[in-house]
Amino acid sequence: GKRIVLAARPVGEPKPSDFRTEEFAVPTPGQGEVLLRTIWLSLDPYMRGRMNDTKSYAAPVPVGGVMEAGTVCEVAASDNPGFAKGDIVLARAGWQTHAISDGKGLAKIDPKLAPISTAVGVLGMPGMTAYTGLLDIGKPQPGETVVVAGASGAVGSAVGQIAKIKGARAIGIAGGKDKCDYVKNELGFDDCLDHRETDFAAKLKFACPKGIDVYFENVGGAVFEAVFPLLNPFARVPVCGLIAHYNDTDAKPPKWASSLMFATLTKRLTFRGFIVSDFANRHGDFLRDMSGWVREGKVKYKEFVTEGLDSAPGAFMGLLKGANFGKQLVRVGPD
Ligand code: NDP
Repeated sequence: GKRIVLAARPVGEPKPSDFRTEEFAVPTPGQGEVLLRTIWLSLDPYMRGRMNDTKSYAAPVPVGGVMEAGTVCEVAASDNPGFAKGDIVLARAGWQTHAISDGKGLAKIDPKLAPISTAVGVLGMPGMTAYTGLLDIGKPQPGETVVVAGASGAVGSAVGQIAKIKGARAIGIAGGKDKCDYVKNELGFDDCLDHRETDFAAKLKFACPKGIDVYFENVGGAVFEAVFPLLNPFARVPVCGLIAHYNDTDAKPPKWASSLMFATLTKRLTFRGFIVSDFANRHGDFLRDMSGWVREGKVKYKEFVTEGLDSAPGAFMGLLKGANFGKQLVRVGPD
């Protein structure tokens, strides 16, 4: 077996030497345990936070520890009555080819219902993030304008499509023309703007003539600065992620922090941060609605696959900079 561990805590952007590959003898499950073989490894932006030794909503990965991840695995051997060899399960096996589990926290996946990779994508954590953040915090109404960045990505693509299903206007923000074309033409957003263009803020204003009612915050940074003056009275801002800042080394309050507070007061804005696990009681609703929408073609998804566990560090470093076009996955082993 092979695993990738955190070799050093990154300062700023992660680099190849922050990761180390190790080999190990594939273990045999003890009583009550299963041996998992990883098929799909999900790479997600939150992993950058786990590489830091700072207090957050989850404990950091220790130096020398296996990088954490959600995975889709096959049960390769079982001494646990709840699981049989050949079962496909959603697990948190991390960045490795094999792992031992006592069965706790494993969820069986039915390969007949949907491609198994969707269990870490549109029908998994990122899809659930989009669904709950948008519907439970953003609460888009028919005719309102919803803006989301990372619009071709795992979370953002679902946010805009669900906004359309609810009768709102969906404006995406993405990096580059190919992603913007895809978001408009394939996903059916009303418009999509390239945040790397110099006149991005002016274009965003033009695309939102009636202002912004819901801004689903995935990125922060320059995108937020362009969005913030356009927020309407009583606008809702589900704060989901701040990927533009994950590699920051010094976090200083921006010069415009006080104007943000004034706008929050005078426009009665709602900013609410959330972690997808806050909405665990919505999982049943999510699975019912989202699998229906995917089946009906109302929610489309795109996967961006790199091959082999060795590709994970490079793919992860790319994910933080927009090298991915769709949900970032690593195919660790055959189906
Ligand atoms: P994506 O598939 O959207 O990939 C990340 C994307 O972020 C990149 O492709 C890039 O897209 C965009 N990006 C990177 N840097 C910048 C920047 N400086 N300005 C604008 N865009 C940038 O990832 P996910 O869908 O998995 O995650 C999206 C967000 O949701 C992240 O912030 C993540 O941390 C957050 N999240 C939060 C959860 C929660 O529970 N709160 C759960 C899951 C995700 P582009 O090329 O278009 O710029």
